Amino acid sequence: MEAIASSSSSILMKNLPLSANFTFAGEAVSDRIFSYLACLRDILSNSYSHACPCSFYNASVKECSYTAIAIARYQKKISGPLIDRIDIHVEVLRVDYEKLADKRQIEDSKTIRARVQPVRERQLERFKGTKLTCNAEMGPTEVREFCQTDASGEKLLKAAVQQLHPSARAYHRVLKLARTIADLASSDMIMANHVAEAVQYRPRVGM
Ligand SMILES: [Zn+2]
Repeated sequence: MEAIASSSSSILMKNLPLSANFTFAGEAVSDRIFSYLACLRDILSNSYSHACPCSFYNASVKECSYTAIAIARYQKKISGPLIDRIDIHVEVLRVDYEKLADKRQIEDSKTIRARVQPVRERQLERFKGTKLTCNAEMGPTEVREFCQTDASGEKLLKAAVQQLHPSARAYHRVLKLARTIADLASSDMIMANHVAEAVQYRPRVGM
């Protein structure tokens, strides 16, 4: 089990289709282990953690009772390599009662789906003839081939790298995310605003 667990991240992150015939180290992986791996993959791709032990960090309703040092120590508990593997980091603040009780219409999933569908098709078209189906599956080679930035995008990316010193993995993740943001804007080139948005989704501690 340990061997599987230690290699699971590379298997899981590639979004393999679930199949009972999958083999690992020459041996067929049983359905049960495969559902375990699938479950772990979902947890990894939807990781959630509080910004501090009391969960009131940056909240408007109550003040956080921890010192800056204690918070930094708490946040460091998530290891760098794990943070690197998460595509999008978003800080979600506590929601006030007024917002929870707000009855105004928010965008429904059908509308969001209509916006995402053409982007998925665009990506399928991009990876035609390869084993890949979407931007998230790109490795360093594909990133080099498909994540072309224009001059402004390159300039910003260079500045971000000089300032934030990302790991190679984090750097590729930013480019892949910028590629998707550019796809949402129907842009063939990755431009400065796409890079800026992607960088914003890296955690504030490092990149
Ligand atoms: Zn706190």
